[in-house]
Amino acid sequence: MKTQSFSKRTMTCGDARAEHIGSTVVLNGWVHRRRDLGGLIFIDLRDRYGMTQVVFNPQEKPELFAQAEKLRSEFVISVTGLVRERPEGAHNANIATGDVEVAVNELEILNTCKTPPIQVADNSSVDESLRLKFRFLDLRRSRMQENLILRHKMAKATRDFLDKEGFLEIETPMLVSATPEGARDFLVPSRLSPGKFYALPQSPQIFKQILMVSGFDKYFQIARCFRDEDLRADRQPEFTQIDMEMSFVSRDDVLGVSERLMQYVFKTVMNIDIPVPFHRMSWEESMNRFGNDKPDTRFGMEIIDVTEHVKNTEFQAFNDAIGSGGAVRGIVLPGCAGYSRKQLDELTEFAKKAGAKGILSAALKEDGEFKSVLSKYLSPEQIAELKTAFGAKDGDLLAIMAGEAMFISAILGKLRLEMGKRLNLIDKGKFNFLYVVDFPMYKYNEEEKRLETEHHPFTSPKPEDMHLLETEPLKVKADAYDMVLNGNEVASGSIRIHSRDLQKRVFNAIGISDEEAEEKFGFLLNTFEYGAPPHGGIAPGLDRIAAIAAGEETIRDVIAFPKNTGGDCLMTGAPIAVESDQLKILKLKVEG
Ligand code: ASP
Repeated sequence: MKTQSFSKRTMTCGDARAEHIGSTVVLNGWVHRRRDLGGLIFIDLRDRYGMTQVVFNPQEKPELFAQAEKLRSEFVISVTGLVRERPEGAHNANIATGDVEVAVNELEILNTCKTPPIQVADNSSVDESLRLKFRFLDLRRSRMQENLILRHKMAKATRDFLDKEGFLEIETPMLVSATPEGARDFLVPSRLSPGKFYALPQSPQIFKQILMVSGFDKYFQIARCFRDEDLRADRQPEFTQIDMEMSFVSRDDVLGVSERLMQYVFKTVMNIDIPVPFHRMSWEESMNRFGNDKPDTRFGMEIIDVTEHVKNTEFQAFNDAIGSGGAVRGIVLPGCAGYSRKQLDELTEFAKKAGAKGILSAALKEDGEFKSVLSKYLSPEQIAELKTAFGAKDGDLLAIMAGEAMFISAILGKLRLEMGKRLNLIDKGKFNFLYVVDFPMYKYNEEEKRLETEHHPFTSPKPEDMHLLETEPLKVKADAYDMVLNGNEVASGSIRIHSRDLQKRVFNAIGISDEEAEEKFGFLLNTFEYGAPPHGGIAPGLDRIAAIAAGEETIRDVIAFPKNTGGDCLMTGAPIAVESDQLKILKLKVEG
């Protein structure tokens, strides 16, 4: 068989420098741009390492020039030529090869390219479905190339760091029985056991715990996880976690190694200094000050509780809220005292959309006027006290709500984020990490009218709260923690249960009976009776961290082949219907 032969590159398109002047080189790559100038043809030849200018001169090589005229964007070519210095004034400081060019002696067209539906040569915005359909072209664009290189470096730095720390990378199975992480499972029918199904792992949680029982006291895996969820919030049905587990550790050991991992990765990959230790904030404090459990601490505008300062006013809404155990809270919108009626209505609209009845505003006019309905009900002293409590100055606008403390805080928290963006208060260059700790063990699922675990059911309750498990489960705090970066939850973890009895009690509280626990998780419960060490872990999300590091809005931009928000792969067409023969073999029938 005749193999296709072509002149193979002697250097990449990012290599040529002044020191190569005078040598003959071969470059292989894609035609990035063609410029016809002053009777010459210039090609920017591109590969993932960079770009080199190659020149065709009709005087020197007329036949070559004629061939070069046929070159179009994204043709794949091989050129052989002489490296020479660019003429004076034509040096390009923006690219590494900018001092030189290659005068072409030989050209081979290795492949042509239809007119690309996406311009590779510029990063201008293109409809995302087109990008996902033609992902192979989209991935040629410099932004996506940089993102995937960054992701690779982060994964490599992770492996290097954890290896140095004595962690072992161990793979766990993809075909498993269910792991409860709170999402739906993707199921895979078994041919050998018709009517039975594997689940794809929502995380390696159970396996990594069992590895602890087996004595692999420091485990990690850059693990693919699968969760069949509605994808509205920037999620993917399959995503990647830096999954970690350790034995004989306390919470602070896990937090310590994870923050040093982040510090190492950001330093090695981006030369960014991340200070450690990360601030640790209790869940309760986070909910009170920021209205959510993933505070964005890149800007202030925190929620302030003024209940104590408005206890004795004549304002009915305050008195009703306080009387029924609620609170009065608000945020200061700096420099917004001049908001028009329309702008104030927009704030109310925002609060209403978030579920509130409304929001009260008070403008602290530059001339000292307190412009608000409140001025009718509060004495001048009470107004002065309120201003001081908020730490507000003239020119600011107060946005105040009264009601159940957590409910109003959640809405104020949303407003804070929205206004932080609108008022341009968020420094995009910052990477603010912190830990939120002491999560509640359980939360109440209103729809299903039952308790569920806030993290997953393998999380240990705090020892001092264990006695409340049966009586007041909603008061139980868990030894669970999240790592937060710029207002995003980027890792979750916990100290685990390693006693059969406690595991059953935790299951019972969420309605999993002893029998069901035995049936579903008997294998794990058994391991607890064979020398399970105390253990805990965490799982930073590689996609999210890489997206934030790359300055991208969505994790799709740091995943080579993501699904769209409908869960479809627009390039391959997955998911697809399958042949009826295939279903028959699996003894499956599709309804409808
Ligand atoms: N398995 C957990 C998760 O996927 C992480 C952990 O607890 O280590 O969120």
